[in-house]
Amino acid sequence: MSRLPTESAVPPPPTEPYRIKMVEPIRPVSRQERLAAIGRAHYNTFKLRSDEVFIDLLTDSGTSAMSDRQWSALMLGDEAYAGSRNFYRLEEVVREIYGFRYVLPTHQGRGAEHLLSQVLIRPGDTVPNNMYFTTTRAHQERAGAAFADIIVDEAHDPAADHPFKGNVDLNRLEALIRRVGPERIPYVSVAVTVNMAGGQPVSLANLRAVRELTRRHGIKVFLDATRCAENAYFIQQREPGYRNRPVREILREMMACADGCTMSGKKDALVNIGGFLACNDETLYQKAADLAVLFEGFPTYGGLAGRDMEAMAQGILEMVDDAYIAHRVEQVRWFGAAVAASGVPIVRPVGGHAVFLDARGFLPHVPQDEFPALALAAALYVHSGVRGMERGVVSAGRDPATGKHRYPRLELVRLTVPRRVYTADHLGLAARACAELYRDREAICGMRFTYEPETLRFFNGRFEPVAESPYFTTASSAAGP
Ligand SMILES: *Cc1c(COP(=O)(O)O)cnc(C)c1O
Repeated sequence: MSRLPTESAVPPPPTEPYRIKMVEPIRPVSRQERLAAIGRAHYNTFKLRSDEVFIDLLTDSGTSAMSDRQWSALMLGDEAYAGSRNFYRLEEVVREIYGFRYVLPTHQGRGAEHLLSQVLIRPGDTVPNNMYFTTTRAHQERAGAAFADIIVDEAHDPAADHPFKGNVDLNRLEALIRRVGPERIPYVSVAVTVNMAGGQPVSLANLRAVRELTRRHGIKVFLDATRCAENAYFIQQREPGYRNRPVREILREMMACADGCTMSGKKDALVNIGGFLACNDETLYQKAADLAVLFEGFPTYGGLAGRDMEAMAQGILEMVDDAYIAHRVEQVRWFGAAVAASGVPIVRPVGGHAVFLDARGFLPHVPQDEFPALALAAALYVHSGVRGMERGVVSAGRDPATGKHRYPRLELVRLTVPRRVYTADHLGLAARACAELYRDREAICGMRFTYEPETLRFFNGRFEPVAESPYFTTASSAAGP
């Protein structure tokens, strides 16, 4: 692939604060193979085999490279069914880094979301969230709650340059409390950072204000802390007064604004599996622990092997290392700058874990009910072997009340950067692929469902192109770029 014409405009990538001790070969896949593969996958990049992918930017979930210390931690596994010493180590680290008293390990983040939703929500409640996350909202709705979006307006505008686009709109939250009554709001769910808004952070000032407002009404606050270290780094860089504060201290201050958190260890905590629910309220912990026995496992392992808890404890210590987290976020920012340099529309500012292509800007000729982001993700794969994922109308699903598509203003393709896995060369290739595809965007057509699952339809949905396109049809592929 040719170099970007504008590449000189992009600053040099940040230097990795680690070196490589073990490698995993990846294989280039021919265009012919990719065309066949995307057809077999029903145009859904989730359904591709990993061997069919060259650079895998599907997700940063569970895809991190563990450190030598984490691999060593695996050898310290105490696989006792009850009372494993690895649990006590995890508990100690969570208490130290997050500051919450009770820790309940779960198989991953959604396990913690499930327990929290079941324990706190009564049918007919409303749970305010700063935008939504797929599994978080699904668990809240499954427990009988109505979802209410309380994020600031800027979050829904891919071009709005706001340093804390994940912030809660306090007026909106206050109006909601007045409308439904504080007794029908079991907790406010605040994601730090907001994945669906493009990995956008929440400021400490905003978290404090949310705490203050909810305290007045006796409402709990739970953080979705999945990407809390990335959020803390943004606070360090962008919020006045925090430039010289270690990320570790900022993280503690963030957590001090909440009653507890759910965490997917598969993201910031640098492990391939794991998560936890943490809180300060003993009764809440006890109820969740009782439910965990049914759904996750005994409360000192929660569906994890002892060794997994040990590796997660070590990962939590590494995620708040200032040099590590600075490189992590700056690498993503550099990737975003490289993509944007050739005019490709992306969500700004670039968030903590991914570059989000604005599919509506990229494919203005594809209407939203023909799933432009899904089509773009499929075309990018066929063009380059780079795998991203749809974050648009397919992910947003149908409104449970009306049965109609929810049309989010953000129709995005997420190119997620796994932690400590790819070099700047890999990401540069992905950026060039986006630029090339953008020049040929007219050739990409929309999609329709051939099979639509009832829940979380982006995972298992099947699609077909609505028209002929060199990106999707083997017959005309010879004429493709
Ligand atoms: C991934 C994720 C979750 C769910 O965690 P899993 O470990 O995938 O179950 C929840 N919230 C956010 C913001 C996430 O990114």
